[in-house]
Amino acid sequence: MNAEIIAVGSELLLGQINNTNAKFLSTQLAELGINVFFHTVVGDNSERLKNVLEIAESRSNLIILTGGLGPTKDDLTKETISRHLDMPLVMDEEALDSIVGYYKKRGREMTENNKKQALVIEGSTVLPNEHGMAPGMMVEKGESVYMLFPGPPKEMEPMFRKFGYKHLLDKLDIKERIDSKVLRFFGIGESLLETKVDDLLVNQSNPTLAPLAADGEVKLRITAKDVSKEKTERLISDMEKEIRSRVGEFCYGEGETSLMKEAVKELSSKRYTIAAAESLTGGMFQEELTAISGAGLILKGGIVSYTNEAKMKLLKIKEETIEKFGVVSEECAAEMAENIRELTGSDVGMSFTGVAGPDTLEGQPVGTVYIGISLKGKATAVRKLNLSGSRAQIRIRTVKYGCHYLLQELGLTNH
Ligand code: ATP
Repeated sequence: MNAEIIAVGSELLLGQINNTNAKFLSTQLAELGINVFFHTVVGDNSERLKNVLEIAESRSNLIILTGGLGPTKDDLTKETISRHLDMPLVMDEEALDSIVGYYKKRGREMTENNKKQALVIEGSTVLPNEHGMAPGMMVEKGESVYMLFPGPPKEMEPMFRKFGYKHLLDKLDIKERIDSKVLRFFGIGESLLETKVDDLLVNQSNPTLAPLAADGEVKLRITAKDVSKEKTERLISDMEKEIRSRVGEFCYGEGETSLMKEAVKELSSKRYTIAAAESLTGGMFQEELTAISGAGLILKGGIVSYTNEAKMKLLKIKEETIEKFGVVSEECAAEMAENIRELTGSDVGMSFTGVAGPDTLEGQPVGTVYIGISLKGKATAVRKLNLSGSRAQIRIRTVKYGCHYLLQELGLTNH
């Protein structure tokens, strides 16, 4: 089966949004072993969409479309396909009920054009939308299979995962199952990690190993194929053991987790409370922490102290410390962490001070960062970092390193 992904939407052509749907679908299709030879983007225009469909039909037998299933006039994907395939649109009662229910639940009035979203191509398999209103569809005609998904990734991705993926598996009559596991690493660069597992990346065909790096983190996805679940699990676990024997000390978690989630988990299990004194991160550490449910039980609060004055006034940093060592210093970071812990009566005090750039500060180069951790019953630890990247990257990485060092201080990782 050869696939082509057609993203419909003028915003994509105008450069207003990235075509993340094509990226997501390509990754999913690769897992299924389906070749994707073309990505196409077309605006909200019926004539041009028809042209694109004709081209796609001449070179691909699986045509996946995203976008243009909404209620407005410029949403014309299914209308165009219905005309093109000469298969009428019919009202899908289940989809209509779900749309009516959607409005009722929110106490909002449903406009007439919303009903349009419940129209489906006659004879298609309807893919329910559990995160929005417009259902997806799978239609077969002649040699071609067409799949239609809504544009918003938060609707399309779960719909594909739950329904699309399975329909394709059935269609391909794949007896083999595909299982995968993601290992997450921090504190080791992508190139070093790849070097350490290079032979596994090159030589393995089952399971396969795929690295993915972003914001100082590296993920390794292990994917195994076999007819039996026991076999895929064994293949994955053997590969995992091998990877862990080489770079295990940098692995902080598996699957859909994050450094902050792991830190929250660890603090909760120890029943520790935490507070943060933030300078260059401007509250980002606390923002990320509060985004995780359960934060209420562990975060006491914090202070964003950006100027020297605020550091002295709010955080009670000694004037001598700033005069003698500067705010970007080990001494200031230690005092900030200790003071925020004491001021809030927390078990852990974290501090972040450094130079996010683009200008230097106190003669320190951009990327110089000190992270302080004051943990009750332990001597205050301060780590110095020399980060590279833009202002935004330095701030994001500082927070990640904060979580990483916190996990180390809490004794979870040991390097
Ligand atoms: P809606 O009911 O929201 O109108 P729709 O199926 O009609 O859904 P579009 O109107 O084409 O979809 O797009 C809605 C939104 O979905 C876009 O504004 C954009 O945020 C997102 N979106 C659409 N296509 C893509 C894409 N290819 N990649 C990433 N995001 C997309």
